Amino acid sequence: MIERLRTLGIADEVILSVMSAVPRHIFVEEALASRAYEDVSLPINYGQTISSPWIVARMSELLRANSDLGKVLEIGTGCGYQTAILAQIAQKVYSIERVGPLLTRTRIRLQELQIRNVHMRHADGLRGLAEAAPFDGIIMTAVTTHVPILLLEQLVVGGRMVFPKGTQKQNLCIIERNSQGYTETILEEVNFVPLLSGVVKK
Ligand code: SAH
Repeated sequence: MIERLRTLGIADEVILSVMSAVPRHIFVEEALASRAYEDVSLPINYGQTISSPWIVARMSELLRANSDLGKVLEIGTGCGYQTAILAQIAQKVYSIERVGPLLTRTRIRLQELQIRNVHMRHADGLRGLAEAAPFDGIIMTAVTTHVPILLLEQLVVGGRMVFPKGTQKQNLCIIERNSQGYTETILEEVNFVPLLSGVVKK
């Protein structure tokens, strides 16, 4: 998997080494475990998917931008694989998921991996987490049609948000906060499940 990511253009050695250390098969159902290292997204129940290794590597690389991160906010915990990678490249990770049962399983997985610097919250992530803000980085793993202003306001000056944006066609998008405001960069085309509002309890 790591050699393939390198071939596909992932150059941040920190990300490659973290991804080689975190076992991906424990984040998917047993029946799919043999496919966990292929470069595909896989179903994780509740109509959601675990992002492909390439997408996880790419978004992590863009968020890290070659320097260690302090506080990071993730919207869309899902199975927690991206969360586990973030936990190795940031001092503290706050992760919000709207589907309660997904989060319950993810909490158990991260405990098993003895990952202790992640705080998970069952909520609608679009409001962010004002009490823990500001964040050095924000990553969102579900697609939105609009730039989420409330989240951008929770970035430090110098911080960045990485997320997919679009309607029929989606692209990765980076928004950086600077002293004058925000700058947006649109990158390659991607394919994510939609960001939804409200929470699912059972
Ligand atoms: N990165 C995760 C999940 C990707 S799927 C993984 O690789 O497993 C996107 C996730 O975002 C899903 O778990 C979905 O339930 C969640 N999600 C969608 N809208 C959300 C919202 N408004 N707030 C929090 N989580 C949301």
